[in-house]
Amino acid sequence: MTTSPENIPTGFDTLGLAQPLLKALADVGYETPSPIQAECIPILLAGHDLLGEAQTGTGKTAAFALPLLQKIDLKRAVPQALILTPTRELAIQVAEALQKYAHHMPGFHVLPIYGGQSMVVQLRALSRGTHVIVGTPGRVMDHLERKSLVLNNLQTLVLDEADEMLRMGFIDDVKWILEHTPAERQTALFSATMPDVIRRVAHQHLREPREVKIRSATSTVVTTSQSYCQTHTGQKLEALTRILEVEDDFDAAIIFVRTKTATVELADKLEARGYSVAALNGDLTQGLREQVIERLKAGTIDIVVATDVAARGLDVARVSHVINYDVPYDTEAYVHRIGRTGRAGRTGRAILFLAPREMYMLKLIERATKQKITALTMPTPGEVANRRVAQFTQQIVDIIKTEKLDFFFDVVRRMEGEQDIAAREIAAALAWLATRERPLQMPGANDHAPRDLAAIPNAVAVPRSGSPGTQSEPAPSFVRDTERKPARASTKPPESHPDAEPRRERPVKEGRSDTPVKQRSFADGATMQRYRIEIGRNQGVLPKEIVGAIANEAGIAGKDIGQINLFEDYSSVELPANLSDDLMDILRRIRVRQFALKTRVMEPGEFVDTRPPRRAPPARDSKKPDWKKPAGAKPEWKKRT
Ligand code: AMP
Repeated sequence: MTTSPENIPTGFDTLGLAQPLLKALADVGYETPSPIQAECIPILLAGHDLLGEAQTGTGKTAAFALPLLQKIDLKRAVPQALILTPTRELAIQVAEALQKYAHHMPGFHVLPIYGGQSMVVQLRALSRGTHVIVGTPGRVMDHLERKSLVLNNLQTLVLDEADEMLRMGFIDDVKWILEHTPAERQTALFSATMPDVIRRVAHQHLREPREVKIRSATSTVVTTSQSYCQTHTGQKLEALTRILEVEDDFDAAIIFVRTKTATVELADKLEARGYSVAALNGDLTQGLREQVIERLKAGTIDIVVATDVAARGLDVARVSHVINYDVPYDTEAYVHRIGRTGRAGRTGRAILFLAPREMYMLKLIERATKQKITALTMPTPGEVANRRVAQFTQQIVDIIKTEKLDFFFDVVRRMEGEQDIAAREIAAALAWLATRERPLQMPGANDHAPRDLAAIPNAVAVPRSGSPGTQSEPAPSFVRDTERKPARASTKPPESHPDAEPRRERPVKEGRSDTPVKQRSFADGATMQRYRIEIGRNQGVLPKEIVGAIANEAGIAGKDIGQINLFEDYSSVELPANLSDDLMDILRRIRVRQFALKTRVMEPGEFVDTRPPRRAPPARDSKKPDWKKPAGAKPEWKKRT
């Protein structure tokens, strides 16, 4: 390991960001600024205009959001920054990011406004006051024309994904907005590409902008064999464990994630599945970091989950695999990462996980590495099961070769005689016993079983012969919960493995039921309440799947299911208020795409949106302008992670 404190890049604290923002970044576990952040933040903090060429995934949101937040005067509830985005989804996503980075800025409020949402709702929300608006051009223009949005105090204007706005035909609206905002504002324009029209807009409306471009061509020829796997965020863990099980020539792996928090979380989850694994991140002292590397070299651990910074320069010959669990910021980072395998003349293998919206990275990486990246065929349950049987067989063969078994021959012979059972039956029972925690049988393990991840239950590591995994928690079984012994089924997993929890609950079928569910009736015009469910965009869920599951499993008619808002890892859904305990119990356990909804009533102030509460709007406290909290709400904004 050549990483030393000297060559670890400087963190966010050297960029000039204020304490509340640094604290929020520490909360979300960002270790180091991405290249675009390192370049843009000082420029924007110094008050310059900026023209940034950057794609989604480079960290551009934080690059403009952090400097913008630093300039917000919390005492004045007027729009001080406006961010234009091409789509409603991006507007919500950016608003969520701002809320996250402003976690230690009490009373901060951001409002997403977009077409398709009721005008009345937006007018009411705007009249309550806000510090930042994130909106789509058409709707922002409407509000400016109606004077329901006044931008006299605007300091910062951000055009996000400008080429998308152009492609979607918003460019005239954008120009109109630029002409109707104070000339002395600071403007930042981000675009994945820089067509002439965008350059012209920049030339006309930005003042001597500094240009920032993400380097994408490293043009390195690599010898490592590279594959990618397209998967939604919520399915990555399952994909990873299944791939690890069937990969040939696996010796050791480095798995790259983006945040310090993610190194620890993923390492915990893998450990719970029987892998010997450690996290490697910038929070570890040099001594501890070296210890992790030594353990990887010595084979006491097989997997290291690392951030880019912490794994820089890591040189361990036995690393056969590099897994890009979170996509790198740019091709240069990718090339650095995969350079951790294929060392000392050995062959290496690199696997890249990509969410559908990150697929554009594929072409960039192929260009940079001058090599085709092949699509990885997801192993079927049958293939995983066959691999497990082969590994188990190898373990038995090895034991027969190496261990003294005379005493056990006697035990078996006695069993045969006393119990009148055949040796074959005894062997089968012993195989069952030996693999109880890591079963060889998997539901759907036949040749025609789908490769679809949603059809596969949790993967559990089968220790590779010679390197038994540590088992810190009884591994989740491949056998259906209903087939399990009650004692195991009721085992509560530790809090630190939240993903393991739903699988131990009584399974509820997804969105359908064999026996018709009793339809419940609610009075027309019943008071509605917003509920939180633990599945969101990252899990690839569609609103109709949520409606289908709730209607079919809980018997709540479609007419009684109100607005659904998808967020990154959760969603909100409007349902009748004060549901019975029984119904809440069902709603908690309903599964959509294998995720238990864990439905609960949302707390006041938990929802970032413009919709008015169904009760009377909260009275504003003149001393503390915290208009987001209805009267009687808890004084603290409850952060969800
Ligand atoms: P963006 O390009 O802004 O859409 O960001 C892509 C993803 O990278 C988001 O999930 C961010 O939370 C994450 N991210 C942004 N900056 C950092 C950072 N410095 N360290 C780790 N993750 C980051």
